[in-house]
Amino acid sequence: MTITCADCAATQVIPPLPLGAVAVCRRCRRFLARHSRMGFELTLACAMAICILLPSAVLLPVMDSTIRKLGFIESRLVSSVPVIYTEVWFPLAFGVLLFAFLLPAFRALFQVIALGSLRWGWRIWQPGRIFRWSEQLASWSMPDVVVIAGVVAYFRASAPTVVEAGVGAWCYLAVAILALIGDRSLDRRAVWNAILPDATSLPDGHVASCDVCEMAAISRRPGDRCPRCGHTLDRDIAPRFAPALAAVAVAIPLCVPAFTAAIIVNDNLTGVWQHTFLGTVELLADRGYWQYGVVVVATGVVIPALELIGLIWMLAKVRFPSTRGLVTRTRLYRVLQRLARWPMIILFIAAIDAPIVDVRGIRDLVAGPGATPLFLVIALLMLAMAFFKPRLMWEAAGEVA
Ligand SMILES: [Zn+2]
Ligand SMILES: [Zn+2]
Repeated sequence: MTITCADCAATQVIPPLPLGAVAVCRRCRRFLARHSRMGFELTLACAMAICILLPSAVLLPVMDSTIRKLGFIESRLVSSVPVIYTEVWFPLAFGVLLFAFLLPAFRALFQVIALGSLRWGWRIWQPGRIFRWSEQLASWSMPDVVVIAGVVAYFRASAPTVVEAGVGAWCYLAVAILALIGDRSLDRRAVWNAILPDATSLPDGHVASCDVCEMAAISRRPGDRCPRCGHTLDRDIAPRFAPALAAVAVAIPLCVPAFTAAIIVNDNLTGVWQHTFLGTVELLADRGYWQYGVVVVATGVVIPALELIGLIWMLAKVRFPSTRGLVTRTRLYRVLQRLARWPMIILFIAAIDAPIVDVRGIRDLVAGPGATPLFLVIALLMLAMAFFKPRLMWEAAGEVA
C-alpha cells in the first residue's frame, strides 16, 4: 500500500506485512501500519459498551461524603456541573462537561456508526468522514485523565471527609478502561483500507495526499477533498504557524500568576485557607499521600514546562530552518502531543473536589485568582500543540517536494 506520512509528507510504498510486523516512516520514524489480527471489532465492542455505560456514570451517584458528621452529600456528575458553575468557576464547568462527558460520548458514537457500518454493511453517509471525526476527538476526550484526577481528589478530600465511591464512579472507571482498550487495539490502517483501499503502487512525481488518513490520492489535485475521509488534500499548513506562536507568547507571562496565586480559596469554619499549586502538593505530602503529590507536580509543572520549551524550540526551527535534528524534533512533537492533555488533571481535581467538600458555611470552596491563568496556560498549550504540525519544520527545511 502507498502511504504519505502525515508528519514529514514522504510518500512511500509499504509491502504486505507479516503478522505482528510494524511499518514506520523511513524518514521520520512515524508509526504507519501494523498487521494485527485485532482489526477493529474489539474497538467497536468497547465503543458500544461506552455508549451504554456513560449515561449511568453521569446519572448515578459518584461519591457519598460525610463531613465530620455535620453533613451528608451525595454527588452525581450530572449535578456537579451546575455546582461547579455556580460555586466555583464557570470555565471549569464547561471544561468538565466537554472533556469528561460530551466529547467521549461523541467519540464513542462516531466509532459505533463508522465501524458498525463496516462490520454489518450499513449503508451510511461517508463513513470515512465520521471515522475521521472520531479520530480527531481522540486527544480532546479525556476519561483517563478524569479517572486519575478522581483518585487524587478522593485522597485529598478523604482526610476531613468520609468519602465513598458510588456506582457512578465505577461506571466511569469502566468507561475509561474501555476507551483505553478500544484505542490501543484499534488497527487504524485496517479501518481506512476497509473504507477505501490505499493505492498499491507509487506513481511518478508528486501525489496529492491527505494528512489525516495518510492517503496518497492518485488522480486528484491539491485542494480537492480526500476521497476517503473528506479532508483537504495537500492542506496548506503555513497559516497554522502564527496562531501556534501567538498561543505560546500569551501563555508565557500567564505562568507567573498560574503557579503562585491561589487556585482554590477555602472558606473554612476556622478561617480562610488558600490553596496555591504548591500548597496542594504540600497538603497531599503532609497527609502521607506523597505519591499523589508527585502525580500533581509531574502533570501540572513538569509537562507544561517541557511543552513550553519544546514548542519554543520547534517554532524557532520553523523560522530558522535546518535539516539537522529534524527527526529528533518530529519525534519530540509526537511525545509532547501525547502528553498535552495531562495537565488538565489539576482542573479536574478541583472540579471533582468542589462538590464533595462543598457544604455552605462549613467548607466553602471558590476559585482563587490563580484559577483563570492556570486554565488559560493549559488550554493555550493544548491549542498551540494542535495548531503546530511537524510538517511545518519539514517544509521550512525544504524537505517536502
Ligand atoms: Zn514521516
Ligand atoms: Zn483522508
